[in-house]
Amino acid sequence: MINKKLLITYIVLIIIIKTFALQIEKVSNNTYATFGKTGLPSKENGGFISNTYGVLTNEGWVVIDSLSSPTLAKQFIKQLKSIKNVPVKYLIITHYHLDHSFGMSAYKGAKIIAHKNLKRDIQNSNIEIYKEMLNKTFDNLFKNVKFLNIDIPIDKKISIKVGNLTFEIFPLPNAHTHTDILIYIPQTKELFAGDIIFYNRIPFIGDNHSNSKNWLKILKQIEKMKISKIYNGHNKPLDKKAIKFTYEYIYFLRSEISRLKDEDLFYDEIKEKLSSTEWKKYPMFKEFHNKNIYKIFNDLDFEF
Ligand SMILES: [Zn+2]
Repeated sequence: MINKKLLITYIVLIIIIKTFALQIEKVSNNTYATFGKTGLPSKENGGFISNTYGVLTNEGWVVIDSLSSPTLAKQFIKQLKSIKNVPVKYLIITHYHLDHSFGMSAYKGAKIIAHKNLKRDIQNSNIEIYKEMLNKTFDNLFKNVKFLNIDIPIDKKISIKVGNLTFEIFPLPNAHTHTDILIYIPQTKELFAGDIIFYNRIPFIGDNHSNSKNWLKILKQIEKMKISKIYNGHNKPLDKKAIKFTYEYIYFLRSEISRLKDEDLFYDEIKEKLSSTEWKKYPMFKEFHNKNIYKIFNDLDFEF
């Protein structure tokens, strides 16, 4: 006879495991993805708020972005190995933000590629200061996070051949952050865009190092590329209309803030005027919109 209590415990356990285990999805012939939840990090979501990608080559895995903790990264690696048990050759980090770089210590043994500014921030402990600040804000959620040396810092475009696939890696001038890179696979025309391209979600322009003017220029250049799919940090796979969405939001903010500044309005008044726009319906508006206005409001004084 089946013990009813035991059976219920077993079912509940399975549900819990299923809820918390990262789900992996095949998104192209060679690319697998895990899609994070929408929102800021919290105890409830365990910091699982961003995407990560594994590209399978015939020499091993190439991973793009490391999630926000070694615990989450280890779960992802486990999933990759269950698809094909070959080594992770490279981890490429699209930028320094916690949800893209904080899982890196799980990738010991792989070569780590990132923008040269991220290597510098790790060497001079700037990233430790960032982590401490986040630990204060988010109740020590990132206490297990450790950083590794960046093996291949990027300051100009490079191409890396891994088995049958080529990874073209482009460092960007300051845009979303000062550590942004793009990754493009010419054979499949897949673009990994970090947080440079979004669709139906408000981008974050409030980073200390962000540069909205450069960001628009970069989007114009990406528009000219041949692209089959765009993978970013927070959406499901996208097509080129996401470039337009991102461009239009940044362009809207820059032109509106500039116009209102010319009318001698201060930040608080501009914030008020831009508080009920058509962009309000998109996720992360509440979290990012005012920070974006504040950054652009200040930056416009230094643009010529
Ligand atoms: Zn970011």
